[in-house]
Amino acid sequence: MRPDHATDIFCSSVLVILFGQPLLAEDSAIRQASNASACRQSEIRFDITSLETVILRPETILKDVDAFWREDGAYKLMSVWHETNDQPRNVEDWTRRINTYAQVPVEERSSNPLLALGREFKRGEAAFNDKAIAHICSFLPAGIKPLETTVYFAAEQQTSGIAVRRNIVLNIRTQEALNMIVHEAYHVGFNSARGNPGPVDREVDPVGWIAIGLQNEGMATYVAFRASDMFPAPGMEDYPLLVDPAARVRLCRRLNSLLAKAKSYSPDRLQSTAWRIGVLERAYYIVGAFMAQTIDEKLGRQALVQTISEGPRAFIHKYNALAPQDMKIVEPQSS
Ligand SMILES: [Zn+2]
Repeated sequence: MRPDHATDIFCSSVLVILFGQPLLAEDSAIRQASNASACRQSEIRFDITSLETVILRPETILKDVDAFWREDGAYKLMSVWHETNDQPRNVEDWTRRINTYAQVPVEERSSNPLLALGREFKRGEAAFNDKAIAHICSFLPAGIKPLETTVYFAAEQQTSGIAVRRNIVLNIRTQEALNMIVHEAYHVGFNSARGNPGPVDREVDPVGWIAIGLQNEGMATYVAFRASDMFPAPGMEDYPLLVDPAARVRLCRRLNSLLAKAKSYSPDRLQSTAWRIGVLERAYYIVGAFMAQTIDEKLGRQALVQTISEGPRAFIHKYNALAPQDMKIVEPQSS
């Protein structure tokens, strides 16, 4: 379900308040080595309490729906996401779906297959960390603080995967869940590594706002794509597009049209057009991932990682020097 997978970075990039102060440059080789291992201390925890509440105790939700959205670990992040992205909640429809869980006899609820899947993920938490942390850290600066991220597996939300602040909410129905966690956890690391520069104001710097979406989504997509051997994602529709040259060129043209017109759009039109082209049509994901792949393969991992601190304009500039003619990006000038 592409439109909803979509949505992740916009909340995380707007709410860049992750790990406090920017990291200072370190000259000491010893400190570098220590920092290099720091990211490996990251921990991604799996939490299925929201799922358990929906399946086992739906009556407690139906008693006070607003309180659940305010207080449940997964749904309070969903509330932030809906508000940040101007995406309305369909609470009436949602409540109707929660009500179907309340119709299930209590003694049958613990055999719900979604609950079984959630418990299976929870049992696999340590094994996931063993493989995923090293992979994610290989695409992040050595000095990054360890990720401390909770993945909330939840049911019945409108999105399939989002990162909000340092945490992740994932729809339990998603078959590609573990691969998506790599993508979402990378957003957390990326935003941390940017050093808390604050959100990019789309009214002040529309092209910069687009560029950060492109870089953040592109790199996260590339990192998760590279994890496909470990965490298969056969249903992930982005990956066939990423390896399809015609699709890449088509989306590159769409992205360039957005960048070329961005300054002439009203804030509302910019928001809706960027959402349509960048997110729903997947231009941020596919073109951005190809950019990351190109830099990684032609200049090396360090050059790719450096673009995080150098910023999205440098990401585009570095890529354009390597890009085939029909895949060059309109270089956004400072506003
Ligand atoms: Zn994303």
